[in-house]
Amino acid sequence: MIPRAPGAMLLSASAAGDTVRAHAAITTGVVEEARRRHGTYPTATAALGRTLTAGLLIGATMKDEERLSIELVGDGPLRRVMVTTTGLGSVRGYVARPATHLPSKRGKLDVAGAIGRGLLCVIRTQPWNKEPYRSIMELVSGEIGHDIAHYLVTSEQIPSAVGLGVFVNRDGDVGAAGGFLVQVLSGGEERLIERIEANIATLPPVTTLVRDGFGPGEILDAVLADLDMRAGSEQGVQFSCPCTRERVFGALLLLGRAEIEDMIAREGQAEVRCEFCSERYLVDRDELTVLAAEPQGSA
Ligand SMILES: [Zn+2]
Repeated sequence: MIPRAPGAMLLSASAAGDTVRAHAAITTGVVEEARRRHGTYPTATAALGRTLTAGLLIGATMKDEERLSIELVGDGPLRRVMVTTTGLGSVRGYVARPATHLPSKRGKLDVAGAIGRGLLCVIRTQPWNKEPYRSIMELVSGEIGHDIAHYLVTSEQIPSAVGLGVFVNRDGDVGAAGGFLVQVLSGGEERLIERIEANIATLPPVTTLVRDGFGPGEILDAVLADLDMRAGSEQGVQFSCPCTRERVFGALLLLGRAEIEDMIAREGQAEVRCEFCSERYLVDRDELTVLAAEPQGSA
């Protein structure tokens, strides 16, 4: 059981006689944790937060043991956003240049400008398939929500509507974040997605709903208006990374004995930072000496 953190939860639901599957999440706590760990500036916070939220929402559709990574690579100043999730409400991620901030456009953080033109790469690793399922496509807008919807429609061939939003306070911390994902399953009327999109068109942005105190259930109620929504399971969501000291030792071992001995001679210690969660691991001289004495190639 993952404890539910305030400002971080996800609700799954169905509608239209189980032909529509929907998920909504409040991710304010998750995105704030990511901002704090990586020290992201507002535009970078929004890009990372939208992608983390997308990871949690798609993660909610995955089966057990499945893993998902979402990567955006663009020619804008942010360069790269990377998010991975194992489903179960846990997600982690980073951006290449956390100190990215651009002037707002029409009062909104310019995420598309920060990412620029580029590619979306989604990898789904499913233990029952030998090869991971990889999908690479050009970004359609760089706003992330549109790009994720485009991926789901074209690559997974599921009619989908996606809304993602992050509101950054004046002081730089995260005021509100959340999103929804609605999919029409096979057997459902394709026109359902048009009705859902018409509902969405009448709604204010997700961040406005979250700031107005909407929970995931209220967001889905609004998105699925007149479609006989039925609330399903609820789960907590969190930023979490599986990195450990042992994994850091393993990574150092891969560098080889000569490199480790060089670290001992030059610095007397090694500092290793996990790129996903920014956790710093200090490995001292004694630990490095033990690692240097390990048989070669035993990582
Ligand atoms: Zn980590």
